[in-house]
Amino acid sequence: MSDEMHDCARGIHCAARTTTIEDGERITIPAQTYRTFCDVDRDRIADVLTDLPARYAELAARIGERRRSDGPRVSGGGRTAPIPINTAVDALLRTVEEIVLSWDERVRDVARLTDLTAANRAAAIPVACGMLAAHVDVLLTLDPETMARTMDLAHIEHLPEDVSGWVRSGGWVLYNVDLGAEHAGVELLNLHHRTLKMLGYTPQHHPLITPCWECGERGLRRHDGTAGLADHVECLNCREQYLGGRLNRLMVEEDEAQQRKADRERRHDPKRHSLAGAREGTGGRR
Ligand SMILES: [Zn+2]
Ligand SMILES: [Zn+2]
Repeated sequence: MSDEMHDCARGIHCAARTTTIEDGERITIPAQTYRTFCDVDRDRIADVLTDLPARYAELAARIGERRRSDGPRVSGGGRTAPIPINTAVDALLRTVEEIVLSWDERVRDVARLTDLTAANRAAAIPVACGMLAAHVDVLLTLDPETMARTMDLAHIEHLPEDVSGWVRSGGWVLYNVDLGAEHAGVELLNLHHRTLKMLGYTPQHHPLITPCWECGERGLRRHDGTAGLADHVECLNCREQYLGGRLNRLMVEEDEAQQRKADRERRHDPKRHSLAGAREGTGGRR
């Protein structure tokens, strides 16, 4: 907590950001908060921590399948060594472990909890995520401290500028960097997003027929609440966000608009029907 309100640490990606149009220019303002993240993003981080163990298990199961099905081919002896198809999934699992377990260690330290005990790293993930979700406000008030991170050598250009030392190892870069509450939230949100993407969960977005209350354009899109993330509507034109009670009011208006649209189509249907002529009996089935 700080004495003065400031921007939510998610910046322009803040889930509760507001957008205004001034002189035709779009201005995005993150939610103002006394904490690191606004309440909406803080709740999202807690949701992500609750959901992450299931995604981790799903990814691990996928590797298990690959190993079984690819096993015979690997030993079958092609001319070139087969590239393991699971490299990317495997690397992401290691990244989940690195990020989750390192934040677990830091929160346990501050919250004076005993060290995590688990049979192996895989078994540690649900324990760590459960603890982090329960202590999310400790996590999101951590001061910056040096932590170790690993990065694929292919992405070395994304190496943060303030790293204190790095070393190449195989296809990886190992480095130390100062990370605090702000990074914890962003890392976990991004990590969760990467697991969903790797698992092939592409969010289903639904366009609304109600025009945007801010800019008046028909650009509203409802984002899929996949994986327990907060449901929201965004305007593709002005980026206005609809959340909470405002979202509920918008969806009531949308339901009414859909109802009117359906009534209109029913009224027009007989005409379309007669034009369709021979296709009698199929008009109402859609
Ligand atoms: Zn925010
Ligand atoms: Zn708009």
